[in-house]
Order: sequence, then structure tokens, then C-alpha cells
Amino acid sequence: MSDRFFPNPMPEFVPETTPSTQQEQQEALTVIHGDSLSKLLAMPHAPLSQRLKRAALDLKETIVIETWGFSRQHVVDFTLYCGLMGTAFLLFKSYQVTHNSNDLTLCSQILKACDAASIASRDVTFICGRAGVCALGAVVAKHGGDGDSLRYYLSQFEKIKLSKNLPDELLYGRVGFLWACLFLNKHLGEATIPSAYTRAVVDEIIKNGRAMGRKGICPLMFEWYGEKYWGAAHGLAGIMHVLMDMELKPDELEDVRHTLKYMIHNRFASGNYPSSEEDRKRDVLVHWCHGAPGVALTLVKAAKVFGDKEFVDAAAEAAEMVWNRGLLKRVGICHGISGNAYVFLALYQFTGNVKYLYRAKAFACFLLDKAHKLISEGEMHGGDRPYSLFEGKGGMAYLFLDMIDPSLSKFPAYEI
Ligand SMILES: [Zn+2]
Repeated sequence: MSDRFFPNPMPEFVPETTPSTQQEQQEALTVIHGDSLSKLLAMPHAPLSQRLKRAALDLKETIVIETWGFSRQHVVDFTLYCGLMGTAFLLFKSYQVTHNSNDLTLCSQILKACDAASIASRDVTFICGRAGVCALGAVVAKHGGDGDSLRYYLSQFEKIKLSKNLPDELLYGRVGFLWACLFLNKHLGEATIPSAYTRAVVDEIIKNGRAMGRKGICPLMFEWYGEKYWGAAHGLAGIMHVLMDMELKPDELEDVRHTLKYMIHNRFASGNYPSSEEDRKRDVLVHWCHGAPGVALTLVKAAKVFGDKEFVDAAAEAAEMVWNRGLLKRVGICHGISGNAYVFLALYQFTGNVKYLYRAKAFACFLLDKAHKLISEGEMHGGDRPYSLFEGKGGMAYLFLDMIDPSLSKFPAYEI
């Protein structure tokens, strides 16, 4: 098991130093070889965030060259998960942080290529489908003041058809499409996608969940390729997460609440969560996609929505195990250190407890300090798509940008 993650070498908590003399300030900024991680962990927020920002912008340049420049703008994979949309989403994030209009221009060029490459796609979600291209395309067009493109992308979005046999999960299913609607409404105004339209999709999800759920035990359950997954990417955690952002009826909200309680009551003794109903013995995966990290983000949201202490307590317990077993030998958002750092950010935002801010910073600093070296030495896996947003260094760059103002961070394409 230990070959999946590094034993966490970092102290449980390190307060930030506030240098009072010029010499102390200089010392705090000087990274001594061999002790660089400790120095980073004690560094005050301002210089550390400058360092993370510089690293993120350097990474972004590399990612653009690798995914767009070298490919001669030929789109092999358009998706946000592992393809070119991930580069576009990172550029949009970079634009939001730096207001560099070159990022927005490049982002819209990339989106045009993704549009052409996805026009016949039958995948409908934000992360893996056509809805992501059209929704991000519309929002980027709005920011760039390009009314024609805005109308074009919105009209394309309206053409997306959800087939009857669509799954309900996040990466390929109905909630993944709903997330694109949420994204449009957030950036372009609440009624961009009318609630009557999204309501019909929610109805379908609730109907399917109840048909497979067990009343009084676990009221909602779903299947993806024959398995009843629990995690964020394909299962309950992701579906409940998006449902809680929709307008639900009181009985539907109760079903969500009891489904989450069922998960808490059936978690592993370690605080981790099974990846599916069928796989209740293997306490192995500590990923956003499968395991405690994805569930913890949903539990933090449930704590906000329902106010039950049980949810925040369970999220804190999950975060503790992410701290101990979540320093994965991968960099990405989906099943890597970058994604796991967002558990601490969500808990920091909800509780205001600086321990969680430190822990997010610790995971980010570990990546900043060690990822390149560990990957080049073969100690860490750089991802099958090493420059992608969800599996590669794109996720790392995104996390670094989010660490500049941790109070506003959001797990990319998941926390709205
Ligand atoms: Zn994954």
C-alpha cells in the first residue's frame, strides 16, 4: 500500500514566520539546500504566494507549448480531463488571477479548435464532453467582449441532447451536464439556463437514484458500468455534490442527507471511504475520484447546506486520513497530491481553522519543492498525460494559482 503514497514527512503544523528585522526577512526568503521544504513551510504568505505564482506561470507556458504548440494545434483529445480544454481552463484561471489578456486570447483560440474537434461528440459533460467546450467558450467570449462567439456557443449548448440511457455520474453523465449549466449561470447570469430545463434533468436523476436506492437505508444509489460507485468522478459523492447546488424539494434534500449519512456510517475505520458498494474491503484509494478526498469535499458542502455537525466532523476525519495517506506519488487533480490539497482548502474556508490552510500549503509546497525532481528520478508518476489538468502538471499549476488567495480557491470544474 505504501508504494501509492509518500509517508508524510511534514510537521502537523508550522506557524508562518513574521520576520521583524531585515535580516530575518532575508533569511526567510533564502532557501537553504537540503532544508528547502521546511523553509517554504515557514515562509510568510506574501513571498510564498509570489513563488507559487511564478512556478504556476512557468508551468502554464510549458503546458501551452507541449499541448498546443508542439501539436501544431491539432486536437487529439479535446476534453478538460486530459485534453486541450484543460489547457484552456488553466489559461482562463491564469487570466482571472493576472488579468493578462494574452491568456484570454489564447484560451479562445484553443476553444475554437476544441469546438471543431467536439462538434460530433456525444459526450455531454463539462469535464469530458461538449457542454464543457460550449460553456467555457461562452464565458470566455463574454469576458473578451465577443458577442458573436457568445451567441454561437450558447446556441451550440442548446443543441446538446441528453440521451435516455445516459449515466448520472459526473464525468460522463447527467450531473456532469448540470455542472456546465451551473457554470454558465454563475458567469453569465442566473437565468442563462432556465431552471425549468435543469429541473427536468434533476427529476431524472432523483428518479433513477430512488429506483436503485433502499428506502430508510440509503435512499439514493446509482450505477456506472454495472458498479455502484461512491467517489466523486463516477459515484455518489459527485452526484450528491452537484445535486446540493440545484434547487431541490424538501424530500429530495432529505434523500441526499440520508444517502450521505449512509456513506459516513459505512466508511472504513481508517476514515477512508470505499470506492463502491461492491468493493467494501479494499481500503486503498485516497483520491478525489475514489476515496476520502472526493467524499470530504461533498461533506463540507453538506455541512453548509444542512448545518449538521456530523458532516463537518466526518469531513475533518477524512481530512486527517488525507493528511496521512494522501501525499500520493502523482501530481494531478484527479488522483494526485494537487487534488487532495483541495480537501484542506475546503475545510479552511468552512471552519477558518489555520491548521487546514497550513496543510493545503504543505501539500502545495511539497509539490513545488520536490515534484520535478521526484518525477525525473522515477519516484513519482508524472501522469499518463503529463501536461493535462486532471492527471498531470496542469492540476499542479492550477493549485498553485489557487494558493494565492486560498479563501477563494475552488476544485477546478467541480466546486462552483
Ligand atoms: Zn482519478
